[in-house]
Amino acid sequence: MDSPRNLRPTAEYQAIDAAHHWHPQTDMAEVNARGSRVFAGADGIWLTDTEGERLIDGMSGLWCVNVGYGRERIAEAMYQQAKVLPYYNTFFQCTHPPAAEFAQAIAEVAPEGFSKVFFANSGSEANDTVFRLARVYWDVMGRPRKKTFIARKNGYHGSSVASASLGGMSFMHAQSGLPIAGVHHIGQPYWFGEAEPGESPADFGLRRARELASAIDRIGAENVCAFVAEPIQGAGGVIIPPETYWPEISRICAEREILLVADEVICGFGRTGRWFGSETFGIKPDLMPIAKGMTSGYVPMGGVLVHDRVAGPVIERAGEFAHGYTYSGHPVACAAGLANLAILREEGLVDRVREDIGPYLQERWLKLGEHPLVGEARMVGLIGALELVRDKERRTRFAEEGRTGTEARELSLANGLVMRATRDTLLIAPPLCLTHEEADMIAERAARTLDDLADAKA
Ligand code: PLP
Repeated sequence: MDSPRNLRPTAEYQAIDAAHHWHPQTDMAEVNARGSRVFAGADGIWLTDTEGERLIDGMSGLWCVNVGYGRERIAEAMYQQAKVLPYYNTFFQCTHPPAAEFAQAIAEVAPEGFSKVFFANSGSEANDTVFRLARVYWDVMGRPRKKTFIARKNGYHGSSVASASLGGMSFMHAQSGLPIAGVHHIGQPYWFGEAEPGESPADFGLRRARELASAIDRIGAENVCAFVAEPIQGAGGVIIPPETYWPEISRICAEREILLVADEVICGFGRTGRWFGSETFGIKPDLMPIAKGMTSGYVPMGGVLVHDRVAGPVIERAGEFAHGYTYSGHPVACAAGLANLAILREEGLVDRVREDIGPYLQERWLKLGEHPLVGEARMVGLIGALELVRDKERRTRFAEEGRTGTEARELSLANGLVMRATRDTLLIAPPLCLTHEEADMIAERAARTLDDLADAKA
């Protein structure tokens, strides 16, 4: 790309982009009709487009730029590594300093017992790795019939065949005949959207967790391999489960001998105010797919943190785990990851989310719940949502699900704040380095957006 000081006119990028670049998760007819917004630079929590407009990135890219943009230290680490050893594989008993050191650094911040990481290049690949590894585990444990996965409707675990099957996005399944065999979905712990009238969050959380027990009993525990779920569902609409949910899920998995997989791709690396969302919710998983915040998105990377109770038997008894990617443990990605972890640790960003900037933004964010168009405002750490409703008392939604969410997202962009919309829920997950002043700006811009939406609906 040309340097930001030497950009071509925006329309030129839009034209070549529309002609040649097929975007993921995007209606290309809209790209052709309206052109894409072209981003040219970023610093801290701020994005700059080719028109020179500055926007707050309230979504950390796609929930990944945890340390914020413009970190010279990460860029420098990648540059130095690319000069010394830009690539070598980690197959066939080979390694290199960044892979060994990054694996160690991740294990140091992981909950106790997670001493091994298997590297991949994305969250999707991480979940594909889970799919294969969990089955191998039960094979070596002498229980080869345990092959079925249970996951959740409206969960998101990626776009590859296995990860999209574990995911419960019906619009994704409708294309290309997913899920594949061996995946079963239960209901999600979405109290605001799906509780019965008068049902408390605690009762609803228990009811949804017990769907797991019913599903296991129906399929037969002897056939079930693992339960896979995000500590907080991100793409599904920042669904924060009631307090009763995870303890009951954990109890059911332990009682019925099912592996528990906590997909930490969004929650990992500080988003919820602990290193992993599992720690925030008291989950004791066996496997944790990770990605995004692992390198803060500076370069693609993913992986699976594997608890010793799973890694031990597989390494001992399976011999080779016949799985891996050309770029597993890529040296440049590991160098970026090491610099990223060093920033998170040295700046105390995770503790800061829990003790300082998280509570600060939460206080302002939850106040938005008083707006007449907001049915519920919620936030844990630095990940939150606003439920848009037509009638606050009755929690009535707007007609044509999703249209109001998109409208609000566009209004927010016009107010200089990038938020995301899932159906009619607005989502926020800013970089963990944001200042108090920037948190105030996020709250102000979100409030202005709600007022603009009210005006548009009047
Ligand atoms: N798991 C979760 C919880 C995610 O949110 C995502 C992506 O948003 C993925 C997995 C897939 O990650 P990737 O897009 O890196 O393949």
